[in-house]
Formats: sequence, structure tokens, C-alpha cells
Amino acid sequence: MVYELFSLQGKKALVTGASRGIGKAVVIGLAEAGADVALVSRSDALFQTAQVIEKSGRKALVIQEDLTRHEAAEKVVSATVKKFGRLDILVNNAGTTRRAPVEDYSDEDWEVVMEVNLNAVFRLCRAAGKVMLTQGYGKIVNVASLMSFQGGINIPAYTASKHGVAGLTKSFANEWAGRNITVNAIAPGYVRTEVTAPLQKDKVRNRQILERIPQGRWAEPEDMVGAVIFLASDASRYVQGHVLVVDGGWMSR
Ligand code: NAP
Repeated sequence: MVYELFSLQGKKALVTGASRGIGKAVVIGLAEAGADVALVSRSDALFQTAQVIEKSGRKALVIQEDLTRHEAAEKVVSATVKKFGRLDILVNNAGTTRRAPVEDYSDEDWEVVMEVNLNAVFRLCRAAGKVMLTQGYGKIVNVASLMSFQGGINIPAYTASKHGVAGLTKSFANEWAGRNITVNAIAPGYVRTEVTAPLQKDKVRNRQILERIPQGRWAEPEDMVGAVIFLASDASRYVQGHVLVVDGGWMSR
């Protein structure tokens, strides 16, 4: 009974940024929980992850797309529905950052980060939501950040985009709450992936970060999987518009 609440058996999921890092771990976790998964990013690395999923007995669909393209959202959603017949779960995980002091931050860096981290998330929620509204069922999990609550250093576009993701999550959640679609987000703490490689390599920042994390370690991508499965499953059916921090205690210090 309780196990069934968390099961994703038979569900059809779409995960962006599935080629590495958090997205790759999440895709494998969703498949282990029973879902067939469409994997989106730009790179060939998606095919390796798809093989892992297929070995576990689930179906995988690779969709190579650059999410800065405005047409991408409709395209990946319709490809998923064409392959799997429906779309139950959307995980908006793809993300990027550019680092520079705010006074030198370029328009180009601002635009790329906002396009991937916020505008594409809006377009994907809208496109997936239309399918979910017709089905009368859907679970959307956006990937926010501690920078949905804090300012950060040298990452103004990232911070603005992730504050935006938290707002967007609540906005979509409000409108679709009565229509059997939950919209929530996770806010990962400091996770050991490519996007944080410069921080991991910087001895001073690395030490400062570790000192502030009550659990005393960086997260691994796999540490995010349980929270995503919770928000993607019926276990979270009364959770709406929530941003769940998964941060080893960072926000409570
Ligand atoms: P990562 O290892 O750098 O992975 C980023 C993913 O996004 C890759 O799969 C990449 O795929 C995809 N992506 C980037 N730009 C894209 C584009 N234009 N079109 C399609 N896909 C694109 O980073 P990560 O740490 O796993 O981050 C995943 C999410 O977690 C992001 O939203 C990030 O902001 C968030 N997050 C991370 C941390 C952390 O500490 N790592 C903390 C809080 C939040 P390709 O390069 O193959 O296209």
C-alpha cells in the first residue's frame, strides 16, 4: 500500500538535462521506480543513459534538442506523447550558468542563462500541461536552487532565473491545483556536478561551502532522486506549489 504510493509503474516521464549530473541520476531513479522515460539534452551522452534504462526493462526515448530554441518545448512534448501515448511526469532539470561580477555581466550571458533556466521551463510547463490537462493527471517537478532564496556571488542571471523558477512553480501550481496536476520543485544544495566544478576546484570557496553545510559534505546527484520520486508520485498528491530544499541542512544554519 505505502509502496504503491511511491511506485511509478506504467508512468511516462520526460526529463530535461538527462545527459549527466542530477538529470542522469533522476532518469535512472524514475526508471527503477517503474517509469518509461524520454531523455532530453543536446549531447550524445543521452544514448548511454538510455541503454542503462533499457537494461532495467523500461523504455527510453532519446530526444536531442537545444532548449534555447523556442520550438523545442512543443517538439519534445509531442515526441514523448507520440512514443509513449501520454505524459504523466515532467522534470524540468536542464540548467546552466555563466559566472562574472555583476558590473561586468554581459547581455549574452544573461540571455543564455535566462533562456535555458527560466524561459524553457515556462514553455515546457505550458506544453506538457496542455497534455496533462487533457488527461486529467500530471506531475511537474522543476529544479530550483538555493539561489531561489539567496543571492549568490557572480551569478546574477542564475539567481534571477532560479527565483523565477520558484515563482513559476507556484503560479502554475495555483492554476492547475483543482485539475489533478501538481507542480512542485526541488531546490538542491551544493551537488558535485559539472556546473559546480569551478567551486569544487577553488580551495577557499570549497572550504567555505563545506563549513556551512551541517551534513559536512557535498551532495552527490543520487541524493536528489528520492525527493524527485516523492514529488513525481502519488505520495505527494496533496503537495502543491512547494519548493523542497535538499541541501544537507544549508538553509537551516
Ligand atoms: P550539469 O551536470 O551541468 O547538467 C546540466 C544538464 O543540462 C546537462 O544534461 C545539459 O545537457 C543540460 N543542458 C544545458 N543547457 C542545455 C540546453 N541549451 N539545451 C538542452 N539541455 C541543456 O548540471 P547539474 O548540476 O546536474 O544541474 C542540473 C540542474 O540542477 C540545473 O537546473 C541546475 O541549475 C540545478 N542545480 C544544480 C546544483 C548543483 O550544485 N549542481 C544546485 C542547485 C540546482 P547537454 O550539455 O548534454 O545539452
